[in-house]
Amino acid sequence: MTHHDTKSQALTLLGGAATMLLVAGLASRRASRATAGRNSRARRRAGPPHHRVVVVGAGFGGLQAALHLARRRDIDLTLIDGHNHHLFQPLLYQVATAALSPADIASPVRGIIPASDHTRVLMATVTGVDTQARQVLTEAGAVPYDELIIATGSQPSYFGHESWAKAAPGLKTLDDALALRRSILEAFEQASVAGTAAEQARLLTFVLIGGGPTGVEMAGSIAELARDLLAHDYAMGQRRARIVLVEAGPRILDAFAPDLSEDAAKALTGLGIEIRTGTRVTGIETGLVHLHDESIAAGTVIWAAGTDATPVAKWLGVKPGHGGRVAVDADLRVPGLHGVSVIGDAALALGADGKPLPGLAPVAKQQGGYVARAILRRMRGRSASGPFAYRDYGALATIGRNKAVAEFGPVHLSGRPAWLMWAVAHIFFLISFRNKVMVSTQWAFAYATHQRANRLIIARGDQPPVAKPGYSVIPPSTNSVVPVT
Ligand SMILES: Cc1cc2nc3c(=O)[nH]c(=O)nc-3n(C[C@H](O)[C@H](O)[C@H](O)COP(=O)(O)OP(=O)(O)OC[C@H]3O[C@@H](n4cnc5c(N)ncnc54)[C@H](O)[C@@H]3O)c2cc1C
Repeated sequence: MTHHDTKSQALTLLGGAATMLLVAGLASRRASRATAGRNSRARRRAGPPHHRVVVVGAGFGGLQAALHLARRRDIDLTLIDGHNHHLFQPLLYQVATAALSPADIASPVRGIIPASDHTRVLMATVTGVDTQARQVLTEAGAVPYDELIIATGSQPSYFGHESWAKAAPGLKTLDDALALRRSILEAFEQASVAGTAAEQARLLTFVLIGGGPTGVEMAGSIAELARDLLAHDYAMGQRRARIVLVEAGPRILDAFAPDLSEDAAKALTGLGIEIRTGTRVTGIETGLVHLHDESIAAGTVIWAAGTDATPVAKWLGVKPGHGGRVAVDADLRVPGLHGVSVIGDAALALGADGKPLPGLAPVAKQQGGYVARAILRRMRGRSASGPFAYRDYGALATIGRNKAVAEFGPVHLSGRPAWLMWAVAHIFFLISFRNKVMVSTQWAFAYATHQRANRLIIARGDQPPVAKPGYSVIPPSTNSVVPVT
């Protein structure tokens, strides 16, 4: 054996040994990793230290908080909502006026926060909170919590005139929007066979109470719908719908700068809408609205004048603040209660100027993100990063096709540029990619054709049938009304 052969044999042996060591090392690392994994899974199965966070409300605020918390495996997250969907309320009026369909502006909550070993969604109505036992009380049972985030939003308020609700429904849920869509579309059907000119005029009269964004947007959308329907679907182009927007304050869109209120008023007037500012509603009956100086016979009356918080103050046993809201500390927790935060429309939180923050989607979303981060910090034993500070990125309201107003600090826009910004912003903020695609497509189609594909009258069991006895069918050749004798 030569010296060279010995050297190469030694090298081969060394190489083999090194390879074996490497393989053994890798195997032992893999084995110890597997053991560590088994141990940590066992630790997780063993129960606490999981932190139980319950979020009530899958609207703008609650969903934002839940999305943050669902990423953390050391949190047991329960998201409770009375509905199974997250709703993009700013576009509800478009469902009510047949521009969009319900599925375009809502997404199933379970599709956004899927069930896992540490997250669950519960469809249940919350009826109270036992703050001593730390349990959320629902119709489906009690849900224990270590931290509770309440984001149940607001509901229409009739300022003590609850009897007005039936004759002047508000717009808050998809059910409300579908009921309104039915009522608006039925008004045209019934007007087309009305027995008298006066009855036809009443059916084609729409009164909107409240000159905020919802009232303004509904009024503009009904005006455009009426114009297109009367001209095309009913061949009654010579008829005009009467649309009255009633506002108790001195101007519409009072959250906007006065010049933008004025631009909006001009745009609405251009659509033929009567604006009655400084006018109080004194009474509402079915088909009749009493103002201080006039009574208006109307086929459809819509309430967009005010909201109150959901009864969170009652659930928590605290004194309600302005609008029934729950006063919260600078970190959005309820003073005197352990581990309870209230956010969004249900919370009375103060802005940097000391005034209550408005009931807007961006406020709720930012608060949702803030409380989730604060909970995570507390879990790591760190204090809050400072008080909640709302960042106001501006406000938008639309009136109709190519008509909107936008306010970004000192920058005020109206007309088509504001309308394009409004459209892009709303598509951007929709929750799912599907909804973004559906809404963009429907808007593009409607813009090109002036048609609203969703003008379906869908009967519900608790509503009367559309056809009203007493009128005969009008021959298509005449546009006159033929009462049955
Ligand atoms: C028609 C309309 C148009 C609007 N337009 C705009 C706009 O253009 N721009 C804007 O910024 N804001 C707009 N808003 C306001 C905005 O929608 C609210 O400020 C925002 O939704 C508040 O968010 P939130 O999380 O507090 O409550 P919400 O988003 O209302 O969510 C509350 C959730 O709680 C659930 N819930 C309520 N009660 C219970 C209960 N007892 N048990 C279980 N679940 C319950 C509800 O089902 C809902 O999912 C509009 C509102 C409406 C109604």
